[in-house]
Amino acid sequence: MRLTFLGTGTSFGIPVPGCDCAVCTSGKPRNWRTRHGLLLEHEGRRLLVDTPPELRLQLIAAGVDRLDGVFISHSHADHVHGIDDLRAFSARSRLPVHMAAEYEEELRTRFSYFWGPDARSTPGSSIPGLDLVTFEDRERIHAAGFELDVVAFPHGWFRSYGFRVGDLAVIVDAKEIPESAVELLRGVRVLVINALWFGNPHPTHFNVEEALEAASLLGAGTTYLTHLTHRLDHDEMEARLPAAVRPAWDGLTIEI
Ligand SMILES: [Zn+2]
Ligand SMILES: [Zn+2]
Ligand SMILES: [Zn+2]
Repeated sequence: MRLTFLGTGTSFGIPVPGCDCAVCTSGKPRNWRTRHGLLLEHEGRRLLVDTPPELRLQLIAAGVDRLDGVFISHSHADHVHGIDDLRAFSARSRLPVHMAAEYEEELRTRFSYFWGPDARSTPGSSIPGLDLVTFEDRERIHAAGFELDVVAFPHGWFRSYGFRVGDLAVIVDAKEIPESAVELLRGVRVLVINALWFGNPHPTHFNVEEALEAASLLGAGTTYLTHLTHRLDHDEMEARLPAAVRPAWDGLTIEI
């Protein structure tokens, strides 16, 4: 299985518009972070995780010409507001989009022009052809040929959904690992987990220290930090983190 990090920035992205901090103005490619997206590929099948605002640019950069399914972690703008870019791949056949049942009503309303009860395209124009497929916490789902064990993670007042697929666990926008999820995720060879910055705990996201604790709780092999802010310089992170923990970057591809 191949994993590509399409976007590794937090909800603001990096650079943050108007910010003149050292990271935003560094000009280093690895400090340029679009919003969260992942691509999983195995035996010719492709699953996209999240549809962030820069989705079109991410798909072009990764050379993606086709998708077989989409997994949405939760309804925050930085994870779904590029969904219309899926039109390019849903013209010939409809594309399944898997998301938690708790977000169905909200997203059908927000994107009523293609998911509402009266959704239809004006003749000669197009709308995304997306089939919304819902799941519940702890369900095992089949998406784009992948078998995912889905888990909900507390995210402030919200819940963000991650999963385990084989030797990979993906946790985005989490503030806590529920005790009951530890058993499911224990011993993964590769862990992808969200982290904002060092110190100063945040109410809805792990900071780096909390992400490291979670990785150690799960006994993860290699851990990749993502959903990163402009308070983290890529090179400084590389030097400061333990060897088994790496900062991800936009475009990083790993084989699992
Ligand atoms: Zn987010
Ligand atoms: Zn900045
Ligand atoms: Zn969020």
